Amino acid sequence: MKREDVLLGAALAACMFLQLRGLNVWPFLIIGILAYAFFRHGTPLMGQKRFVALTGTPGTVKVGFDDVGGHRSAKEELREALEFLANPEDSLHLGIRPLKGILLSGPPGTGKTLLAKAAATYSESLFISASGSEFVEVYAGVGAQRVRQIFQQARTMARRSARKSAIIFLDEMEVLGGSRGRNSSHLEYDQTLNQLLVEMDGIGQGDDVRLLVIGATNRIDLVDPALVRPGRFDRVVRVALPDREGRRQILAIHMRNKPLAGEVDLDGVARETFGFSGAHLESLANEAAILARRQGQRTISRSHITEAIEKVILGEKLDRAPSADERHRVAVHESGHALVSELLRPGSVNSVTVSPRSGALGYMRQSPREDRYLMASSDIKQEIAVLLAGGLAEETILGEASTGPSDDYKRAMEMARKMVYCGMSTLGLVDPEGTPGDAVHRAVKEIIDGQTKIVLGLLKSQRSHLERIAQRLVDEESLDGQAVRGEKDSRESEAPEELPPLHRLYREAS
Ligand code: ATP
Repeated sequence: MKREDVLLGAALAACMFLQLRGLNVWPFLIIGILAYAFFRHGTPLMGQKRFVALTGTPGTVKVGFDDVGGHRSAKEELREALEFLANPEDSLHLGIRPLKGILLSGPPGTGKTLLAKAAATYSESLFISASGSEFVEVYAGVGAQRVRQIFQQARTMARRSARKSAIIFLDEMEVLGGSRGRNSSHLEYDQTLNQLLVEMDGIGQGDDVRLLVIGATNRIDLVDPALVRPGRFDRVVRVALPDREGRRQILAIHMRNKPLAGEVDLDGVARETFGFSGAHLESLANEAAILARRQGQRTISRSHITEAIEKVILGEKLDRAPSADERHRVAVHESGHALVSELLRPGSVNSVTVSPRSGALGYMRQSPREDRYLMASSDIKQEIAVLLAGGLAEETILGEASTGPSDDYKRAMEMARKMVYCGMSTLGLVDPEGTPGDAVHRAVKEIIDGQTKIVLGLLKSQRSHLERIAQRLVDEESLDGQAVRGEKDSRESEAPEELPPLHRLYREAS
């Protein structure tokens, strides 16, 4: 029982005793209650707030560094900074100035919160967290007061739970620590940030509770430079999207408690999920398990995982049934993507489907063979060709275009513009600011027209293949890459003279 609660009980007992003796205690009682509320919780107008705190005792914060997949260098950096919290004597002996803050920067869902929690477990610190938006108020001074309060609360709670250190985790740092002067309408933001700087400057080596502030942001570009100078957030640690090995580790963590069929190879799943964040992978594992349960199965098979990948990318399947014409058009469109993808990069199609999901009417999914962070000009041209192939297949087979490919065309234009700005067009290297818009437009159009001509040539010469894949899609709804390739191969044996020159033709033309 807390000391305040004992005092409160004693005060109430005294009041009842005095009332029974005939003394009017109501005025004292009301004043007492107001005073208690003021000192303990503050009033709403003062903006007092209790922040979420986890005490870091075993059983409350369960996340350890082993529960965080990938991020090897981020974990290393964190462990180093935590050494001061865990073993201050060793660091002081070497004259190391303790780090006061670490800023984790990276896309959403990459595990920044998870890393901060693991840091608290590792250093046996109290963990207290708040989000930047909790400090933003319309009343001037309230945000600053909340900043003071969270530092105070961290110290008090650490003392109470007999901890020597506390980690304050501040999410959405771009809101709390956005560049000063950016919000010109009122000074509230600036006061809040100034208070954070003051509090961080006030963290001292000799404090009985050692504090470390871990900030997290998706927009490091918006954070005030004063925050990332040494002595405040001394280190900015990049928490990027996981690479293939990181994805495999994250999948292994989230599949730990799930029964997998023997055929499931997590390395293969990791290869297929380039661009997925940790949160996507967690959702994938969960969705695969839900699908297995829906089908009354006791283990998660490869097909559940494939379906879950599609669900994470495109959303839930829709009940909406398109008309027969529309379904045929979508099948032709997706077959166009799949055929051209296979012709340009054999083995690249993972699956193709015409079942509508919340994000699309159909979908062709390619499997990246390896993680890629750079693209050569020929790679971009191939991607543009595959993007254009859906709409061009509709024109080739059905005789007219539709609004379906508008998103593909937009992405193709963006890629072509990227080529222009990277000096890959006939304009050579250009200054994005100094080049007239119509010159860029002409260069983009030249790239798109070039690819359109090549793709139309491919589709016309492969018209019968295209129609066969589209028909199978209409009948079977989904085909895996093997089926698309089988379709192509069977034709190949029937008409060997037709296929081999195709991607040579593409290379020659481009
Ligand atoms: P945001 O920037 O949106 O706040 P975040 O980077 O803080 O996101 P988390 O909240 O830490 O991301 O991650 C969300 C969930 O995704 C976690 O609870 C966890 O299940 C999963 N996850 C993300 N990254 C990893 C990882 N590296 N290892 C294991 N699980 C992960």
